Amino acid sequence: MAEDKTVFVCQNCGYISPKWAGKCSNCNSWNSFIEEVQQAPVKSGKSRTEPKPGNAIKIKDISKKKIDRINLPYSEFNRVLGGGLVPGSLVLLGGEPGIGKSTLILQTVLNLKCTNVLYVSGEESENQIKLRAERIGINNEDCYIYTETNIEKILSTIKSVQPEIIVIDSVQTIASEMLTSSPVTVSQIRESTRILQEYAKENDVPVILIGHINKEGDIAGPMSLEHIVDAVFQFEGDNNHYYRLLRPKKNRFG
Ligand SMILES: [Zn+2]
Repeated sequence: MAEDKTVFVCQNCGYISPKWAGKCSNCNSWNSFIEEVQQAPVKSGKSRTEPKPGNAIKIKDISKKKIDRINLPYSEFNRVLGGGLVPGSLVLLGGEPGIGKSTLILQTVLNLKCTNVLYVSGEESENQIKLRAERIGINNEDCYIYTETNIEKILSTIKSVQPEIIVIDSVQTIASEMLTSSPVTVSQIRESTRILQEYAKENDVPVILIGHINKEGDIAGPMSLEHIVDAVFQFEGDNNHYYRLLRPKKNRFG
């Protein structure tokens, strides 16, 4: 079987190149190439069989799935989410480094009652997280901490822990071994998020992604995720971090 490989895709015209180039030879735009994983094509020929017909369903026969939102222990959080966390959704929480995004989310998951949570950190050690958790108070015994940055390892751990909520702190630290580009690049952030999204949708598990924003207000890199994720919130405060608020920027379920 042929293996998956990576290619560079011009984000302007869609031209595919096996190598990175500064300028697209097709549309002449600069710095438009982004590395993407290209799945190995299925071999054509004798092994190819016609797929079985799928199940098309009459629209009147579709039973509307009731969405059971997960109620978070903070009313403000539930309110900005439009009434709790939607299963299978991807929520991006942005904010300046050091403003307290990790603490807010850790506090939230540690106060959930009886919900299996997997908190993945690529930023802190287990000990650092434990110290912070003790200051907050641990009310949820089923909160798993996993320090890792490799998305393939993270996915296999998710499958073994089977959490009801996944937290990624932060989206900038995780990377796929499939791509040759360094972490923090748009390619890496996008590919890692795509992998998480696939799992979230298939298993109805919500994922909270923490993303750092720079002074200009861009979620550097993660800003390119705005169209992939279901909801984007910005955690803001004044210079003394005295006032803090969650500002919704996008909410597909709101
Ligand atoms: Zn191009």
